[in-house]
Amino acid sequence: MLAASDEARRLEALRQLALLDTPPNDEFDRITLLAARCFAVPIAMISLIDAERQWVKSRHGLDLTEMPRATSFCDHAIRGDESLVVSDAREDPRFRDHPLVTGAPHLRFYAGAPLITRDRYAIGALCILDSKPRTFTAAERHSLEILAAQVMQLIELRHSSGRLHPTSLLPNAAQFCEDLADLTRRQRGQSRLFVMLDIADPDHLPTYLTMLGPRWERDLPTAMIRGIRAAFGEGFPIYHPLSLRFGFLLDPSATPGWQEKLDQMAVHLRRPISETLPLALYPSIGVVPFRLGDFMDKALLQRGVLAAHEARAVGRVLTTARGQSAADDWHDAHMLLGELRRALDAPDQLTLAFQPRLDFRSGLCRAVEALIRWNHPTLGPVSPGEFIPLVENTALMTDLTFWVMDAAMHAIAEFHQKGQPLRVSINVSAGDLQNSDIVGRITTLLRRYRLPAEAIELEFTESSLLPNRTIVHQQLRAIRELGVEIAIDDFGTGYSNLAYLKSMPASVVKLDQSFIRVLATSARDRAIVKAAILMAHELGYRVVAEGVETAEICAMVAGWSCDEGQGYHIGRPMAAEALALWLADHALPAVAVSLP
Ligand code: C2E
Ligand code: MG
Ligand code: MG
Repeated sequence: MLAASDEARRLEALRQLALLDTPPNDEFDRITLLAARCFAVPIAMISLIDAERQWVKSRHGLDLTEMPRATSFCDHAIRGDESLVVSDAREDPRFRDHPLVTGAPHLRFYAGAPLITRDRYAIGALCILDSKPRTFTAAERHSLEILAAQVMQLIELRHSSGRLHPTSLLPNAAQFCEDLADLTRRQRGQSRLFVMLDIADPDHLPTYLTMLGPRWERDLPTAMIRGIRAAFGEGFPIYHPLSLRFGFLLDPSATPGWQEKLDQMAVHLRRPISETLPLALYPSIGVVPFRLGDFMDKALLQRGVLAAHEARAVGRVLTTARGQSAADDWHDAHMLLGELRRALDAPDQLTLAFQPRLDFRSGLCRAVEALIRWNHPTLGPVSPGEFIPLVENTALMTDLTFWVMDAAMHAIAEFHQKGQPLRVSINVSAGDLQNSDIVGRITTLLRRYRLPAEAIELEFTESSLLPNRTIVHQQLRAIRELGVEIAIDDFGTGYSNLAYLKSMPASVVKLDQSFIRVLATSARDRAIVKAAILMAHELGYRVVAEGVETAEICAMVAGWSCDEGQGYHIGRPMAAEALALWLADHALPAVAVSLP
């Protein structure tokens, strides 16, 4: 009998090969057929010895898939270094009462050669059986052992080809998951960092591929490995789980200065890929701090992908604004996202502020914009300008949007009940259009709060309308068909033109505040805004000026026939209760707007 620890390792080796309970396979079946023919026996099998059972991977001549280990011939075969030969089972006290000896197929002869892994664990056997007793020569025994070695090679080859990325030959996602599971079994609860590198900005990828040509498959992984090893040294595996992404695990307590090393790694990675080609990579690097046991299977990989993705966004948005290292920024971004997830379920962290929009012609406030406010228990107020860009393109965005829709409609329904038919304008992100049943959700909420569809308007930024045009068009049309208004937010900051936007079923254009705030001092912006209002009107849009900060600006845009204004001069974003007071204060027709 093997020592318990050896047996545990043997079983581990067997499990690692992931062969148990897999479907039949031709390559193995050909070997059992060959063995039966070579040795002129009716039965041949490839069997694996699990903790309590013998499991048959391939069989010829006997319909047996598994049997208890206690009655397994092969279990005896794996205990010695060489093959086991039983010339006549009836004469062998170990086997003479075996059910396959006393009953059909009345076995007499057994020869089994152990299947031995590279690490010298015998995981099973290739065996041949006959219902006649027979002798087995040393040469035959040797041949059986050669065949068993072939079986083992096949097993290991198949295993590694499923575990390695075909281009880099680095361990792939399957291997990563397996290694993580192993590590978790041994060190559950310990802290680790998962570092995920995303090779290149998607916008730059075509350049790399064009310049590197067919070499890219080899050169990009080589450059990544070089950069990682230059900062962190050897001695741990680098995984290649997804085509353009690499990752590795770090034990922060065993890696002093890991943050500086990450920065060094980023510097190394930006060096030219090869001496002859002045092309550098700008990988984004995401770090997921976690405890072993927090993530199962591919969840950590997913978090890593997200982290790398966010790192790219953070790199652009926060850069070194707070004098932090990039690693701190990634860490913060993560922390913030995790906190926001909790905030969505907390009763009092998220609220809405409503900013009035003034209709210049009537002097009435007909619409308000809902703006999210987050008051974190320890961080204090966190601005949407900080967290919305992080959340965008994560699954959390749609949860957030639906939270805002619900809260906004709930609040606005109260105004409707009091006879103030306000419209609420809600900011929606690109992802909300692509992945969600936004139309169904709006319909449900309108019904729940007994609101007409005209009570809401959705604001999209230009950039969110550009990708996936077909889906975006379909969703927007469906939203318009409900009777919900659609506004293009921050107009003028994107690259699209009015002619393109005209194909969108929007009815309102909100001119970005960057043009409006400077109207008093910038003749150029005055020209742009005047022209934009004219053009938008020609195309049938209502025009809202955002960032109306002074009476002077208010008068200017109203004078240019802008339909509505929004900004600090008219009213700051405020809670629903304050809005009720504001509306009472600005009772009709008292909103003082000095038209020129
Ligand atoms: P936005 O949609 O363009 O909203 C207008 C922003 O300008 C608001 O900032 C508002 O407080 C600010 N603002 C209004 N009037 C003036 C003014 O006269 N002068 C200046 N300087 N600023 C003014 P806020 O609330 O910080 O929101 C920033 C951005 O965050 C919003 O820009 C919007 O893109 C996003 N956001 C806010 N709430 C949500 C939300 O619920 N969902 C989504 N997806 N995005 C939101
Ligand atoms: Mg907006
Ligand atoms: Mg805006």
